[in-house]
Amino acid sequence: MTEDTFYDLIIVGGGPGGLSAGIYAMRAALKTVLVEKGIHGGQVTMSDEVENYPGFTHISGSELSMKFSEHAGAYGLETITDEVTAIEPGLDCHTVKLAGGHELKSYAVIIATGGSPRKLGIPGEDEYYGKGVSYCAVCDGFFYRNKTVVVVGGGDSAAEEALYLAKIAEKVYIVHRRDALRAGMILQERIKAECRIEILWNTVPVRINADESGVCGVRLKDTQNGEERDLDTDGVFIFIGFHPNNELVPAGIRQNADGYVVTDEKCESKLPGIYAIGDLREKYARQIVVSAADGCTAALAAAHYVENKKAVPETCEIPAELLQRE
Ligand code: NAP
Repeated sequence: MTEDTFYDLIIVGGGPGGLSAGIYAMRAALKTVLVEKGIHGGQVTMSDEVENYPGFTHISGSELSMKFSEHAGAYGLETITDEVTAIEPGLDCHTVKLAGGHELKSYAVIIATGGSPRKLGIPGEDEYYGKGVSYCAVCDGFFYRNKTVVVVGGGDSAAEEALYLAKIAEKVYIVHRRDALRAGMILQERIKAECRIEILWNTVPVRINADESGVCGVRLKDTQNGEERDLDTDGVFIFIGFHPNNELVPAGIRQNADGYVVTDEKCESKLPGIYAIGDLREKYARQIVVSAADGCTAALAAAHYVENKKAVPETCEIPAELLQRE
């Protein structure tokens, strides 16, 4: 790319939402580019097993991502590997600035930047990240063969990752702050049936303990009686939800108290021609299939928006000859 370029649609983010938007946009003959700073697939690439995406009873997250990417590629979707540093809304068109120095312009922008793991915010978490603290069992589980690990959280992610780790580690403790898991029933049944997993109810970690070689334990607190104790562990995997990656969302776009973008049913934000999809958007269920559906919705809506934009003259100035008539 040697010069700034004008597109019908720019998609920011290459997860399931962004790639699905790309497929629908290409099928709608929009001149489209997708910008992604890392590998395509987003968070799903970190999932060991995906069992709830229709059409696949069992597929790995990385394989599903590859299929999305290949599907979009088959329609000739242009992609740029770069970091978006700003999205600047305009009246006639929007500007997307890249870290590499280029500026892209388009009638419509779909923001599909997903979310990131939420942190506990306890001593040792940042210091020992990569030295025993992890947010991805598929990435780091390998290092804990026949060892003891702690999984923090009680949702689907914690349950799935604990089950994955139970195939590698000797012992997996799930540390959960309440007396019931939030995870779906199928996962709960599997957890109950896995003898290597033990759940520590009504418990929260308050500190991660480490020695010169990294994490060696975790300080736990009983949420009911306040008692604290140390538990030896080789690793701490944290799955307590995530927060939306909303740093690029332009000012003027409405977000809820948790930072999720509020859109209408077309996934369109308060700013015309700017859409938010997937885990960035306020919604009931954050699932791969929902992100893909958002991508479809936003791309179809963007196609309609772009069509109208092209049909309307660039300027709203009244021709001089009309002004002169009585
Ligand atoms: P989640 O459903 O929000 O669960 C977060 C868990 O962490 C909850 O159990 C919560 O406890 C606990 N937690 C939150 N803050 C905490 C803190 N400060 N200290 C200790 N514990 C804390 O997040 P998730 O599991 O990452 O899932 C996110 C979304 O993705 C969900 O909609 C989920 O269904 C979906 N998901 C689906 C699948 C799948 O279907 N295959 C897989 C992964 C994720 P409480 O229960 O007490 O609130």
